[in-house]
Amino acid sequence: MNTSPRGREGDLRAFLIDEDQLHTYDDLTKVNPVTPTTVLKCLQARYRAQVFYTHAGCTLVALNPFQPIPDLYSLDVMREYHSAPQPQEAKPHIFIVAEEAYRNVQGQLEPVNQSLVVSGESGAGKTWTSRCLMKYYATVAASSSVLKSQDAVDRIEKRVLDSNPIMEAFGNACTLRNHNSSRFGKYIQLQLDRSHFLVGASVQTYLLEKTRVACQPANERNFHIFYQMMKGASSEQKKEWKMGHGQSFNWLPKAQKTLEEDCFQETVEAMSHLGIKSDKQAEIFRILAGILQLGNITFDPPAKESEPCVLEGQSKESLQGAAGLLGVPAEELQACLAVRTLVAGKQSILKPCSLSDCGVRRDCLAKVVYAHLFEWLTSFINRSICADNSAWCNFIGLLDVYGFECFQRNNLEQLCINYANEKLQQHFVAHYLRAQQEEYVSEGLEWSFVRYQDNQSCLDLIEGNPTGVFPLLNEESRLNRASDAGKFGARLQKELGDHGSISWDKFSQEPHFSVTHYAGPVSYQIQGMMEKNKDPVPPEIIALLQASANPLLGQVFGDQEADSTAPRGLSKNSLESLMKILHSTTPHYTRCIKPNPDCKPLTFHKREVIMQLEACGIVETIHISAAGFPIRKRLLSRRAFSIQCCWRRHQLRRRRARGRAAVLIQAGKGAEEDAGLGPRLLSSVLDGSVKLHYQRSPLLYADMLPHLRREGVTGFNQILLEKTL
Ligand code: ADP
Repeated sequence: MNTSPRGREGDLRAFLIDEDQLHTYDDLTKVNPVTPTTVLKCLQARYRAQVFYTHAGCTLVALNPFQPIPDLYSLDVMREYHSAPQPQEAKPHIFIVAEEAYRNVQGQLEPVNQSLVVSGESGAGKTWTSRCLMKYYATVAASSSVLKSQDAVDRIEKRVLDSNPIMEAFGNACTLRNHNSSRFGKYIQLQLDRSHFLVGASVQTYLLEKTRVACQPANERNFHIFYQMMKGASSEQKKEWKMGHGQSFNWLPKAQKTLEEDCFQETVEAMSHLGIKSDKQAEIFRILAGILQLGNITFDPPAKESEPCVLEGQSKESLQGAAGLLGVPAEELQACLAVRTLVAGKQSILKPCSLSDCGVRRDCLAKVVYAHLFEWLTSFINRSICADNSAWCNFIGLLDVYGFECFQRNNLEQLCINYANEKLQQHFVAHYLRAQQEEYVSEGLEWSFVRYQDNQSCLDLIEGNPTGVFPLLNEESRLNRASDAGKFGARLQKELGDHGSISWDKFSQEPHFSVTHYAGPVSYQIQGMMEKNKDPVPPEIIALLQASANPLLGQVFGDQEADSTAPRGLSKNSLESLMKILHSTTPHYTRCIKPNPDCKPLTFHKREVIMQLEACGIVETIHISAAGFPIRKRLLSRRAFSIQCCWRRHQLRRRRARGRAAVLIQAGKGAEEDAGLGPRLLSSVLDGSVKLHYQRSPLLYADMLPHLRREGVTGFNQILLEKTL
């Protein structure tokens, strides 16, 4: 490639001139030159040709078609990829990622456990992709003996798939960007036994956006489950749940909009399949109905300041309804919302809450109930799908985390989500980009550095101890004083003013700070951040729920400390445990791209796409993948290697650096005629220990020469042979 500016432009023009051919680039590492423009053009041409998957070196790019594509995910297609000798040579597809991970487990290459990281912004197709992956494993890793011996209801794959509609009903919602947006992150571990059959699974959830229960952003909806109940319940159920005709709920905006996700029956069936008995289901739905009634309770100021706020006209009925459904006495519920109990020594003093505090306490009750219910469901699902520890030995994990978010107003929820995304990006950078480049340098290989965006500085800003945004926020939240956004803003300026990743807009009226994330700058408002971080649940509320006549509520709050005032808005610990799992597994990355903001079928907006490509550093990834050899392996036996090497052409380039030699060999298939060349070449250059650097997983070739699998080296296309004498 020509490196002068004019030369580069020439290359670019020459590449783009052949427009008819652009859709044929199934791996963006073959694009030459790699620039945002060429990459974008190729993806656009492929999208136009209705080809939605493209490799970008070690990452798979998935463009959302926003309409079902017939036969793209059929059983036949699954079988095709599963039985292909070299799946990666078939058309790019999410099933290649699935199959590669599966074969890695079969090949027992360290680290044997796999993680499939599916990322992208809201509406890009992560949930869809995770579903496809689960269906794939449920099909190809199903034991045939299980198939024969158990009826379909009992089968683990079915149960794993059935957990999906439940998690989606309770954890997904219609947002401005996506009508089925997951409002929580999840890591699903698919457990495989010694024969690599799927024998169980477990789900870990992260960062449920519980504020949505009591406060839905403009033009967005609450979680699907509430609408499902409204629309799908029988008239008897509606009567019991106080969802009569004409009843409207403050917390159910956009109830008239019907989505395909509003499928109550599917959720109920999935619950039954997982073993949630009908009486337990009834308890769950009564709790949810109770939450909706809570949302209709509003207060008026009292006649005298020293008295508690009074229920507003229609609210009496809602209070009765909520109390009945939640299984608590109505007077106690009202007192809980409107009166605070202050304990001073052995005495307790009752203090009326302000009008706004009454609203805060009502919302808090709804959120804590919903979050506990969600946790209970997750544990139930796990109990139902988790295999006995002795039954499984490896796993493939699917990570679906909601993507980077930047709204007009951003608060703690967005900071947490974006922080999680920063962590994932760092893992990606560390794994594929930094580690690779550093290793090349340390091994003395000739290597021209590719500049990549390292986000460590942003992470330091957010989590750095003691003066990162989170530690400072936690410190502020622990102080027993009224939150003051202005003061906290000033403290951030004082402590972090010199940090390159934080800034302040001088003209903004509100206390705020802006963080330069890898995906772009986001401005966070400080107002409300401390409250959200403290997320205090008044002890009266916990005590009320503990005494509930609804057995499920009594159970989930049973062992909770009544006084739980410690800040816990941040799920930092759970995020850390997730990162630990990721670091111990072989990762596979899929980047879902949303081709237009309106979810229109087959519509490609260049600006929208390029922003997402830039945000995830895809161009850098392609550069490095094209130049590098991401998979390394010690050569176990020269015999295995030489027998296998069917050289068609070997372009040798000796590279000498720091006394080491590296030889680049191109090996191609179908070159048996030249087979003699391999061993001769080897004996002339290879003495001592040798490391192989593969561009593709050697295990993808395992089926080519299965008898050699034992020897550890089973095939390759491009290999960097490095003499490490
Ligand atoms: P995310 O989980 O990233 O927020 P989803 O997976 O819910 O996004 O995708 C948004 C919508 O896009 C889905 O509801 C579905 O209609 C559509 N979609 C996503 N991927 C595909 C696909 N591969 N084929 C057809 N439609 C898709």
